[in-house]
Amino acid sequence: MPIDPRNLSRRELLRDAACWTATAIATGELAGRSARGEEDGANVRQARQAASPQECETMADAADPGYIDAHVHVWTPDTESYPLSAGYRREEMQPPSFTPEQLFAHCRPLGVSRIVLIQMSFYGFDNRYMLDTMEQHPDTFSGVAVIEDDGDDPASEMRRLRELGVRGFRIYPRNRPLDRWLDGAGMRAMWRCGAEENMAMCHLVNPDALPMIDTMCEEFPDTPVVIDHFGRVGIDGTIREADVQNLVRLARHRRTHVKLSAFYALGKKKAPYDDLIPMIRQLLDAYGPQRLMWATDCPYQVVGGHEYLPSLELIRDRLDFLSEGDRDWLLRRTAESVFFT
Ligand SMILES: [Zn+2]
Repeated sequence: MPIDPRNLSRRELLRDAACWTATAIATGELAGRSARGEEDGANVRQARQAASPQECETMADAADPGYIDAHVHVWTPDTESYPLSAGYRREEMQPPSFTPEQLFAHCRPLGVSRIVLIQMSFYGFDNRYMLDTMEQHPDTFSGVAVIEDDGDDPASEMRRLRELGVRGFRIYPRNRPLDRWLDGAGMRAMWRCGAEENMAMCHLVNPDALPMIDTMCEEFPDTPVVIDHFGRVGIDGTIREADVQNLVRLARHRRTHVKLSAFYALGKKKAPYDDLIPMIRQLLDAYGPQRLMWATDCPYQVVGGHEYLPSLELIRDRLDFLSEGDRDWLLRRTAESVFFT
């Protein structure tokens, strides 16, 4: 007897969606795409094993079909409870407040149900506001923390934060020379621990810092790596092919990922952000959809005349070369695999 979808419960629909996805991978519909992107074979194997009816039921329990915004900062005007790090002043908090509730007002009406929080620079190495936010909203947030890479034992701090839901660490060159900015025993300890604990090294860099990341990926091939905001290619208004190629080159390391994010800051810096499409196409060809993830970089995507919706629309509606499966990876599944496992 044909099943009328109107009679299915939400749970049944979720189970069917989970089964469909697992089956699509098992039958090669998505796996065929993965050859292009050198996808981590473990993911495909896991999905294949998950295709039995019992496993589909289990997957449905965990399935959240909402989109994931893989890069957002939150902060509070309550600087009594959460003091700013030395060197930062209240006036630098612009907007003055961006709490989880303010974020939800932008993202939830558009179907974004989970978010990866990135430790805000104002708070230095004090990750408490991010961690408290994560604890207050179970199953909503993952977190990327900032710790001292030249501290005594960064790996034990990484493991402590993992227990609290952190899945990545933000690293950036600060004032170090670009050919050696990832040198040092502490940084190596972090990369080693990242491989052991499946925690990502999340890089906020300009294009000129990408070659050093390539060197580290050779040394630590099992460490998950995420490049924020296209490696900031186009931040000065010009998208240079040489910079794009440096980003493409990193795709040869199987655990590298790129965030398609901060559209407000790159290229023409103007919605609908179509000038970024050729670069997205090149990255899709190099990485495959399973290693690209969308993000907004809120609150910066919702100030200065920019809005949340055009960021989502660029990936959801304006890339005619994506299949439905590709889109699901970019808007949800890649971020899920890196930050919500
Ligand atoms: Zn950011």
